Amino acid sequence: MSQASGRHFLQIPGPTNVPDQVLRAISGPTIDHRGPDFAELTWHLLDAIKPVFGTAGPVVIYPSSGTGAWEAALVNTLSPDDRVLCFETGHFATLWQEMARDLGLRVEFVPGDWRHGVDPALVAEKLAADTARSIKAVCMVHNETSTGVTSRLPEIRQAIDATGHSALLLADAISSIGSADYRHDEWGVDVTVAGAQKGLMLPPGLSFNAISDKALEASRTAGLRRSFWDWKPIMEANERGSFPYTPATNLLYGLREALRMLDAEGLPAVFARHARHARATRAAVRGWGLEVVCLDEREYSGSVTAVLVPPDQDADKIRRMILERFDMSLGAGLGKFTGRVFRIGHLGHLNDLTLAGSLAGIQMGLQLAGLDIDPGGINAALEVLGSD
Ligand SMILES: *Cc1c(COP(=O)(O)O)cnc(C)c1O
Repeated sequence: MSQASGRHFLQIPGPTNVPDQVLRAISGPTIDHRGPDFAELTWHLLDAIKPVFGTAGPVVIYPSSGTGAWEAALVNTLSPDDRVLCFETGHFATLWQEMARDLGLRVEFVPGDWRHGVDPALVAEKLAADTARSIKAVCMVHNETSTGVTSRLPEIRQAIDATGHSALLLADAISSIGSADYRHDEWGVDVTVAGAQKGLMLPPGLSFNAISDKALEASRTAGLRRSFWDWKPIMEANERGSFPYTPATNLLYGLREALRMLDAEGLPAVFARHARHARATRAAVRGWGLEVVCLDEREYSGSVTAVLVPPDQDADKIRRMILERFDMSLGAGLGKFTGRVFRIGHLGHLNDLTLAGSLAGIQMGLQLAGLDIDPGGINAALEVLGSD
C-alpha cells in the first residue's frame, strides 16, 4: 500500500470520522466512576442524550457495540416462545432476527427484496391476521445500513395503530440517531436501539436503548434471562449518577462533546445537511450511469448510499483499488450484496468538500477499474453542493 500523506478518507457507514474535538475529549484523564464528578457527567449525559432520540423518557447507555443493544431490547421486553414479527430489509434486519431466534423467540421473518423498506400495509396485514394477539413485538431496522433504505416509521406506527394490535414496536436506529430526524416518543417506538459510532461520531464502544413507558412496563414481567443487559439495575444506579459496573468513562467524555457539537449545529440543520449530502451523492451515482439500491424515493437514506455495480464487475475489487490508490475506505456489500454493491457513508462529521473529495475518488476509482462511466458524473453532485 502506498505511503499515505494527508488524511485517510473513512467513508464507510460506521465507524465514521471522529472529530478532533471528540478525540481530545476522550483523551482526558480517567476519573473515579464512583466519585462526584462522574455522577455529574452521568446525569448530564442522560439528559443531553434525549433530544437525538426525540424522547423525554429514559435512555440506557451500554459499554458495547450496537449488537449488544439489540440483545438488550429483546431480553428486557420479551419472554421465551413469544412471537415476534421481523422484516427482511437487508443484512442488519437478517442478523437481528437471527439473534431473536437464538434467544428463544418464535420469529416470523417477512421476506423482502433488500431494495425497499418495511411496507406499512404488510405490517397492518400481518397484525390484523393475528386475531389471537400472539405477536408480542414488531422488530424493524429504521435505516438499513446495508442498503441505504430508510423505512417509513411514522406510517408503520399508524398501520399498527389502525389494527388496534398491542405489539411492542422495537426499532434499530443505529445508523439514524444523530443523522436523521428521529422521534421515539412521537412515533410511538417502544425501544429504540442505537450505537455511538455512526451519526454520533464516536469511536465504537457505546450503545443505547431509549425506552417507552410501555416497554418499561413489559420489562417487569418479561421472562427472557438477562443479567448484564437488565435495564433495572442500570436505571437504579443511574439515579445515583453511577453504573452497576465500570462504565466506558472516556467514551462518555466523547459523547458529551459529540452531543455538544450536534446541539451547537442544531439538530434540524444536522439532518438537513445529511439529506443534502445524500442528494448530492445520488446525483453523482446517476451521473455516472450507475444505480442506487433504494428503489423508492420516499425511502432514500440520509446517511448511506448503496450503489449497484454492473453484473460483470466486482464491487470489492473496485473498493480495494480505491483504498490502495486514494486511501479511501468505502463500505462493502454485505450478505447477499457481497461483491455486487459498494456503500458510500455520508454521515457524521462531514462537510461539502469532504463529500466532493470522496465522490472524486470514487469516480477516478471506477474509471481505473475499467467501468464505462460518464466522467462528467460528479458535476451533478457539485451542482447540488454549489447551489442550495
Ligand atoms: C452498524 C449497525 C449495526 C451493528 O452495530 P455494531 O455496533 O456493529 O454491533 C446494526 N444495525 C444497523 C442498522 C447498523 O448500522
